[in-house]
Parts: sequence; C-alpha cells; structure tokens
Amino acid sequence: MKVTFPHMGNLHIPVATLLRDLSLEVVVPPPTNQRSLSLGVRHSPESACFPFKLNIGNFIEAHEKGADTILMAGGVGPCRLGYYAQVQKEILRDLGYDFEYIILEPPRGHIGELWEKIRRLNGGVTVKQVIGALRLAWEKVLALDAVEKALHHLRPRVVFPDQATAVYRRSLEALDKASGIARIRAIKVHTLDELESLPRRGGPKPLRVALVGEIYTVLEPFANLSIEERLGKMGVEVCRALFLGDWIRSNLLLDALRLKGGMDVKEAAKPYLNRFVGGEGQESVGYAVLSARRGYDGVLHIAPFTCMPEIVAESILPAVSRDYNIPSMTLMLDEHSAETGIITRLEAFVDLLARRRGQRKEMEQLERIPGD
Ligand code: SF4
Repeated sequence: MKVTFPHMGNLHIPVATLLRDLSLEVVVPPPTNQRSLSLGVRHSPESACFPFKLNIGNFIEAHEKGADTILMAGGVGPCRLGYYAQVQKEILRDLGYDFEYIILEPPRGHIGELWEKIRRLNGGVTVKQVIGALRLAWEKVLALDAVEKALHHLRPRVVFPDQATAVYRRSLEALDKASGIARIRAIKVHTLDELESLPRRGGPKPLRVALVGEIYTVLEPFANLSIEERLGKMGVEVCRALFLGDWIRSNLLLDALRLKGGMDVKEAAKPYLNRFVGGEGQESVGYAVLSARRGYDGVLHIAPFTCMPEIVAESILPAVSRDYNIPSMTLMLDEHSAETGIITRLEAFVDLLARRRGQRKEMEQLERIPGD
C-alpha cells in the first residue's frame, strides 16, 4: 500500500510523518503547481470548488509516483466538502486510476470509527505506536505554526524580506526530515533565533492586516498566489486567522471528544451570523470582528470562487466594516485568477490602509494641540 493525500500548505509535513511512523509507505505529491492545476481543471466539473480541482491534480501526480491509496478528509455541514471524496473517487476511476480510498470523517465523538480506519491502513499497528506517531506529528504542527507566526511578524520588519523567507524554507526542509521531538524543538528554536537576528529596517510600525477565509485558500500558497509573502514584501504584517494547529485542535481533537472549539470567534460572529454555515464562513466573520477590536488596520478575506460558506461571510463583512470602521476586501480565487489583477487590488487596498493610518495620526496630533 502506497498512501497519498492532498496538499494544503505545510500539512504534508506532519501527515507524512504520522503515516511513516505507522509503518506505511507514503507518496507525497509534488508541491501543487501549474501542472497539478491543469490536470485538475481538465478532469473536474467546471463548477467544482478550486481546492477540489487542485486535489485531483495532486492525486494524478501522486499516482505517477506510484501511489495506490488516497487518504482524504471527509466533511460535514452545508457545503460541498462532504462529497468531495466520493466524486473524486468516481472521476479518478473513470480516468483509469484505480485508487483505494480511505475517508476520514470528522470523528464527532466516534473514536472507535477512527481507530477502525487507522487499522485499515495498517492492521498490525498498536495503540502505543499510534500515540507515538501522533505526538511526533503534533510537535511538527506546533513548530510549523510557531515558525510561520514569527515569519509573518518579521517579514515586513526586516531589511531583506527574502532572507526571512529563505530561513523559513530551510526550516521546513529540516522539520520534514526531523525524526525526534528534541530535534524538532531544536529546529524551531534555531529558526526563531535566525529570524530574530536578521537586520531590521526602521520606520513606522507595519500595517496589520487580518487574513481570514476558507482554510485551504488561506493555507495553500499556490491557491492564494503567495498572498502572505506579497503582503510581507509590501511592508504589511499578516495576522492570519487560521493555523494548522488551531484548526486540528478545534476540528479534530475537540471534535473527537465532542467538545466545542473556537468559542470566542463564534461569540464574536454571533450578532451577524449565529449558526454554522459550513467551512469557515462563521469563523471568517468572527475573526473579522475580533481583528477590528484588536485594532488591526484591515481585513483581507480570501476564498475559492463559488465557495458557499464564504459567500455568506462576504455578504456580511460590509456590515462588520461599517460597524467597526475597518476596511475589508474579499478576493475570490480560482484557476482564472490573474496575478497582475490580484497584485493591483492588493496594492490599492494597502494604499488605502496606509492613507487611513496617516489621517488618523494627523487627527490625533490635531486633538493634542490646545484649542484657541
Ligand atoms: S468550504 Fe467552500 S471551497 Fe471548501 S468544499 Fe465547502 S464550498 Fe467548497
């Protein structure tokens, strides 16, 4: 059995670690690229979500590297994620790719079902082995999140943002290869030190922009045209709402125990959207509210074109912007997104935020001048 799974940002690092530690042969698809996109678009229904198409591309490319089994997350709620796996399975079968499919549905308290799926992957696996594998994978998730947060903070503050990106990329390679908890922690500390030691540029504090939206688009740089890196280079600190660890904690760990995660976000969203609409729709609204309360300069909302939960969020964000006096912009992305158009919109948004900050400062100075 040669197991593969779709890419989503850095998810392949902990997932490959987990599967290898369960003594499975793993085939990581090539990083999502233009060819994965072309394959996915050619073989998917036109109206399918953008992540669906990129997944199909990943699977075909993984098949070319020898994969015969797909591990795929299932989904619940009023959006299309719930039938991704079934439809993809049919498409791939029609194309002649005979994959075995293992669909991991959200556990929702049914740990036994999850355990059965793990045993389907490797019947000889012991509980001790699973716990060890999970611990190692989780440590990698924590390290990846810490390094990414530091990168987002420092990229707009250093003289050469590309140096920060290079340090980050080296750390990804090292974390991918690391095979012990002590080593993972050492790589994390070393990377954070390296980032901290990069020469800083002076000047005013960078603008802070909250990045909210559908998880795949937020986490996968190919899908979002490396939006975080672009903003960092424009001198903007990206405050991403979703990180792998937070998502796993609330969607898998707390869900497995039937506990609720992300309550503060849901509370913040409540006056605008008080129910689950699928995907991260409710979270996008909640994070936008929290970002405004935290004094961020703007909210950037990104999602795949036709993503139902995020269309709901998009229709609500103008009300959040109005109530909290914070600008927001939505970018719907798909295979037709043109890089130049996205850059132009980002630049215009950043200009607007910079002008507003300048005007606020002027107002504050005027208020400090004693009246005549
Ligand atoms: S969250 Fe959006 S992009 Fe993801 S499956 Fe649902 S509708 Fe599609």
